[in-house]
Amino acid sequence: MESKAAGCRTDIPQMLEISEMIDDGKGQKSFFFKGNICCKPGQFLMVWLPGVDEKPMAVSYWGKNEFAFTSQAIGKFTAAIDKLKKGDKLGIRGPYGTGFSLKNNACVVAGGVGFASVSTLIDALKNPLIIYGARSKEHLIYLKRYKNKKMLIMTDDGSFGRKGFTTDALEETLKNKKNRIKIVYTCGPEIMMKKIFELCEKYKVECEASLERYMACGFGICGKCMINDKICCIDGPVFSSKQLRQMSEFGNTARLKSGKKVNLQEYHKRH
Ligand SMILES: Cc1cc2nc3c(=O)[nH]c(=O)nc-3n(C[C@H](O)[C@H](O)[C@H](O)COP(=O)(O)OP(=O)(O)OC[C@H]3O[C@@H](n4cnc5c(N)ncnc54)[C@H](O)[C@@H]3O)c2cc1C
Repeated sequence: MESKAAGCRTDIPQMLEISEMIDDGKGQKSFFFKGNICCKPGQFLMVWLPGVDEKPMAVSYWGKNEFAFTSQAIGKFTAAIDKLKKGDKLGIRGPYGTGFSLKNNACVVAGGVGFASVSTLIDALKNPLIIYGARSKEHLIYLKRYKNKKMLIMTDDGSFGRKGFTTDALEETLKNKKNRIKIVYTCGPEIMMKKIFELCEKYKVECEASLERYMACGFGICGKCMINDKICCIDGPVFSSKQLRQMSEFGNTARLKSGKKVNLQEYHKRH
């Protein structure tokens, strides 16, 4: 994607052809596009399917003249793009948001399709420990991509890796001082990230979490993704421990498409 606006970001959707699609797991696909994108690990794109919707998607791969996002089909928009074929077009704008810092002695904890949001971070870090959790074996993505990395895999039903949650594996890791973890990066369901943050506080380790709130504009105008006094799409989506400590809404409430604030359980039921 060519640089158009501030830095190398474009605010006008560029209609780009899907150059390749890879099946990454049950209902999970990576959509590749030709073009150069300059972005930091943790930043996201706004992806527009005319007549359907426009949604945020993390940049999950980038290389020379190529980039991609990985989508999990869970609702109207993601089910519609799941049906697209090579050569079909999507409107892409961005990249948006803050990125992750890049620190050594890192542990990256991902839940579900949150793995897509930390994938370019993993590619950029020196030898991180990865803790990755999903519901079951069929929901796991990028196993081939990261076959040479240090990775602990957790599944809720025990169908692959260990049975249990990412938080179990993180607590064991942080307890063992020999692992010398200095920072934990995380993305996944907010309830998981809240527990990850609490463990980091308990073991006095820095944390950065990418909060995947409902977003509409992606550049700070609509206010739909407000969390306390922060606008998630421009102040985040990546927040540090210092910021997370100030956010009483983190892990508790979120805003619906209408802007109404509800508790997190209701948010997940209603969207
Ligand atoms: C910064 C950021 C990066 C993201 N990166 C990815 C990614 O790489 N891959 C991916 O599959 N998904 C990603 N998401 C979430 C993705 O935007 C939503 O899953 C998608 O919008 C669902 O749309 P839908 O119409 O298919 O489902 P809906 O029927 O609208 O919703 C289904 C579920 O998705 C949640 N959801 C809906 N819209 C959003 C939204 N805009 N932001 C967050 N959660 C939402 C709802 O709480 C609900 O539980 C990201 C979200 C954010 C904020």
